[in-house]
Amino acid sequence: MNNTKGKTEPSFLKSVGLMFDRAVKFVELPEGLGDQIKACNSVFQVQFPVKLNGRIEIFTGWRAVHSEHRLPAKGGIRYAPKVNQEEVEALAALMTYKCAIVDVPYGGSKGGLVIDPRKYNADQLEQITRRFARELAKRGYISPSTNVPAPDMGTGPREMSWIADTYKHLHPTDINHIAATTGKPVSQGGIRGRVEATGRGVQYALREFFRHPEDVRHAGLEGDLDEKRMIIQGLGNVGYHAARFLSDEDGVKVIAVIERDGAVVNERGLDIDDVARFLRHFGGVRGYSEGRYFENGTEILEMECDILLPAALESQITVYNADRIKAPLIVEAANGPVTYLADAKLRDRGVVILPDIYVNAGGVTVSYFEWIKNLSHIRFGRLERRYEELKGQQIVEILESLLNKKLPTYERKAFTDGARELDLVRSGLDDTMRAAYREIREKFYSREEIPDFRTAAYAVAIKKISTSYIEMGI
Ligand code: NAD
Repeated sequence: MNNTKGKTEPSFLKSVGLMFDRAVKFVELPEGLGDQIKACNSVFQVQFPVKLNGRIEIFTGWRAVHSEHRLPAKGGIRYAPKVNQEEVEALAALMTYKCAIVDVPYGGSKGGLVIDPRKYNADQLEQITRRFARELAKRGYISPSTNVPAPDMGTGPREMSWIADTYKHLHPTDINHIAATTGKPVSQGGIRGRVEATGRGVQYALREFFRHPEDVRHAGLEGDLDEKRMIIQGLGNVGYHAARFLSDEDGVKVIAVIERDGAVVNERGLDIDDVARFLRHFGGVRGYSEGRYFENGTEILEMECDILLPAALESQITVYNADRIKAPLIVEAANGPVTYLADAKLRDRGVVILPDIYVNAGGVTVSYFEWIKNLSHIRFGRLERRYEELKGQQIVEILESLLNKKLPTYERKAFTDGARELDLVRSGLDDTMRAAYREIREKFYSREEIPDFRTAAYAVAIKKISTSYIEMGI
């Protein structure tokens, strides 16, 4: 527990546990099963040396497996200077619930390595990553059938490629070696649409929310996404893509971007690509000329807006600032940005929170598509695309002969364009996010006095996981 100014805030792991406890009351379970679902099955800690520039450096990392009722267990690997075992366990638990919510048949896992990746060059990072991967793989913590990592904070397609290649060298006869990680570059067995999948999923989640006027009113909002004023924290993989899609395609106005070194604010709306370019080039937002700079970025979380999108890291909205948050709708793109105590305070004030275990599930959903692609050794759409186009062409010809006129090009294209891999990925992701939202809201409105969407989402997840255990046997 952190105890400052007389207020106590549970740790991230405890916070997740308390959220679970609140929801498990709404699910009928055989005695003891709730405890099994909540418990983290195993955690592996490793310390390993890497020789860099003639000097030996020791690194510490973890891989937690929260659940194995379905295999493989799935979850990202985080590179961060302050990552620790509790954080990794909390994130692994969230993975279990997330996979259940979006019907992805995986257990939950997560990894972490204590490192500031910005302090190392690409060659050094490759050396460190390969060594970490070897340590995990030789103990069964990386394998296409039992444990499959993906990117998280500080890692991306490059690291996933190195890890999959390390696994291949250790298991050269495993025909499915490429499925040892997801989130790889497309040329290394990745799938189109994975890099942006979590951000795309956030967009689909928000679109679905705004399709339900009752839910929108519940948050004290009205209308659709167009012109809604949004504040975003963290313009990394998740935040950047979510912000770009929502502003470019849905008319959302991003009025503030909060980053590590402060925030930029522009009530007329920020150009996300421009801010992201600046951030990549200068490593922060200080000095960005198209907005007002604030050194204390966290205070900008408290600014008035319609949607607050925390997309950086956990424990950003806590018991200390929850009372000052003005957003009526918080969309948890990051994992655990709102603590348990803050959650209660916000709910009491009528703030609607779309929870992390639903909102950011787009990443694992598309990882699942990638894993299936890898196991089937063929790109989605490869067999049927041209066949579909041919069928479409025939329909167009029949229509044109019946109507006795040529169809305009855009109408022809609607029939004659076969689905590409990216189209199929987006369609599968959209369908998944819509279906999951509907299940959560059905639970929320089920007259069981479920207090909020988060509790409803946990209850949906717990129910599905318990069914799996009950049918399978312990
Ligand atoms: P990332 O490393 O790509 O981006 C994180 C961003 O947050 C960076 O721009 C960083 O500068 C910024 N940031 C870090 N500390 C900050 C602070 N104190 N204040 C403001 N900004 C800060 O990471 P990511 O992959 O986008 O992950 C972000 C969050 O989303 C994490 O909670 C992660 O667990 C979660 N998530 C990621 C994925 C994924 O597919 N990458 C999937 C599900 C959930």
